[in-house]
Amino acid sequence: MFYSMLLQLFTMFCFNCKGNSPKARMRHGDGRFDSLGHSAKYGVYTMFCTTILKVVHFELVQANETGGSQQTELEGAKRCLSFLQYLGLLIGIFVSDRHRGIAKWIRENCVNTKHYFDIWHVARSLGKKLLALSREKGCEILKEWMKGIRKHLYWCATSTKAGFESHILATWNSLLHHVSNKHNNHPDPLYKQCCHGQLEPRRWIRVGTEAFDKLKLQLTKKMLLNDIKKLSPDAQTSCLKMPCFTWLGTLSRHILTSLHFNENLQRETQKAFNGKEYIRVTYPKFKMGEEVV
Ligand SMILES: [Zn+2]
Repeated sequence: MFYSMLLQLFTMFCFNCKGNSPKARMRHGDGRFDSLGHSAKYGVYTMFCTTILKVVHFELVQANETGGSQQTELEGAKRCLSFLQYLGLLIGIFVSDRHRGIAKWIRENCVNTKHYFDIWHVARSLGKKLLALSREKGCEILKEWMKGIRKHLYWCATSTKAGFESHILATWNSLLHHVSNKHNNHPDPLYKQCCHGQLEPRRWIRVGTEAFDKLKLQLTKKMLLNDIKKLSPDAQTSCLKMPCFTWLGTLSRHILTSLHFNENLQRETQKAFNGKEYIRVTYPKFKMGEEVV
C-alpha cells in the first residue's frame, strides 16, 4: 500500500545513455513533482536513463526558491543537467515535456545536446483538445477518431528517423486525408500513400463537414506542427501529481520511489500455475477512456 502510494507520487523522467564510457552519447528525459492544487510547494526533477532503465539523479527544488512552478521545473532541470555534466557525462539526447524555458536553456547551454519532446505530453494535450471539440454540435464523430489520432501521432514519431522533421510532418499531415477515406495520392511527396493494409469498416469524416473543418484547424496549428517536428522517436516520460509533504518527507519519498522504481521496472510478470501471466485491464480516468494493461 505504502509503495503503491509512492508510485502514484512518482512523476517520471527519462534519461538514457549509450556505450560504456561516461563520455558516451546519452539520452535524457525529465519529470516533475507538484503538490495538489495550483501552487506547488516543491518540484522534483528526476533523470531517468532509458538505456540502463534506472533513475540516476533527481533534484528537489523548493518553489519559493524560484518564484513559480515553471521556474521550479526549469531550476530542477538546470541542476540535474549541470550535475551530470559536472560528472563528465556528455548528454547527446535529452527528452522532456514541452517546457519552453528548458528548451531555451538547453539550446543556449548544452550545444551538443539534442532536445526532443516526449510524445505522451503532446498526445495528452491534443487528446484534451479533441475531446472538447467532439462535444461541439456537429463534431460528435471526432470522439470515434480520438484514439486513432493519438495512435497516429505515436506512429509518426516512432516511425521517423530522429530529426527528420519534414518526414514526420508529411506523415502527420496525411492524417487529414486518411480520416476522409483517401489513402493515396497525398500531396506531400515524402509520404504519398498510407502504409496500412485492408481496413475494418468505420465512419469516415467527410471533407467539407463542420467536423472535418474544425479537425483540420486543430491538427494544422502552427504550434502543434512545431512540437510534432521535435517529437522524440522513442524515449518517453510521463507526469503524475503528488500531495503536499514536508521537505524531508518529499525527499525521503522520492528516494524510496526511485529505489522502488529501479527495483521493479524489469520484474517479470507474476504467473499462475498453468504458466499464464496475470494480466489486468483497467480504464483510468486520466487516460480518457483508453485501456491500461
Ligand atoms: Zn489511410
